[in-house]
Amino acid sequence: MDGLPHLAMLHLDRPHYAAQAQRTLKAAIDCVGVGLHGGRRVHLALRPAGIDTGIVFRRTDLCIDIPARFDLVVDTRLCTVLAAPGQPDVRVATVEHVLAALAGAGVSNAIVAVDGPEIPILDGSAQEFTFLIACAGVVDQAAAQLEIAVLRPVRVELGEAFVELHPSSHGLELAVSIDFDAAAIGTQALDLLLTPDTFRDELASARTFAMADEIEALQQAGLAQGGSLDNAVVVDGAVVLNPGGLRCPDEFVRHKMLDVVGDLALAGTRLRARMIGHRCGHALNNQLLRALFADHANWRLVSGAGWPIAANPAMGSAGGLAGLRDHRRALAASPS
Ligand SMILES: [Zn+2]
Repeated sequence: MDGLPHLAMLHLDRPHYAAQAQRTLKAAIDCVGVGLHGGRRVHLALRPAGIDTGIVFRRTDLCIDIPARFDLVVDTRLCTVLAAPGQPDVRVATVEHVLAALAGAGVSNAIVAVDGPEIPILDGSAQEFTFLIACAGVVDQAAAQLEIAVLRPVRVELGEAFVELHPSSHGLELAVSIDFDAAAIGTQALDLLLTPDTFRDELASARTFAMADEIEALQQAGLAQGGSLDNAVVVDGAVVLNPGGLRCPDEFVRHKMLDVVGDLALAGTRLRARMIGHRCGHALNNQLLRALFADHANWRLVSGAGWPIAANPAMGSAGGLAGLRDHRRALAASPS
């Protein structure tokens, strides 16, 4: 057997991670919220976009687009921050939760329009973005969904923290573990195959979290101005300060995995890989993508059904495919 019939069966049996077509939103939808760090009221709209657009943030107050690409990440200290190509001061912050919701729903192409420098934090999770996407609806487009298949292990580390990518035969498999001194968190681990169902049911509602003393320091430094118990889990040692407690006992590791899904969406298209992370955060997640794309031998583009591009002529428009290839070449060639 040459492998292709097997892959075809895999596709039929497991439609979630073998979607062949690119997808966008059926309609535009919007919401209003506050930015976590600036505390400003922000209007956000999710809009449909054409084939091979990818996810693009649009600063409607400046009329400037910022593509969701790992090489445009300029800050990862508190959240993931992107800057427009060649314009490092034109930024959009806290992109990870809306990116996770779009990736989780299998949306390939969309415009995320925002009239300020920060995506609204909403309830600190991705569930409101997931709800908006479900309300708008998702529609297949007339071009193949490409995936970046990881061909050999890639690892980055910092102290005890590390994150790795390994080859996988299907989809994006995630294994994340955390280890915090705070007794309310402690050690937690989660292993998950990313599909629209698992994202919605297992990850989307997990909220961001912070330590009470860290929040005090951040607010004294003028950050986290929009932060409250309405949009973050706040931990003080063994105690969760939110009156309603946790949404699930391991909400913390679920949120860490949600962040991973959002940060890895900055690869530009879906990853086919097994990701293993321990104590990972936005900085390591971004370094992982930079390490992956630093060497073209680490990855190749394949269609969502697992067929190598060269072996599958029914792959959508040649122009679109060539454009995406050029895009990836440019990323691979760019200094990290
Ligand atoms: Zn987060």
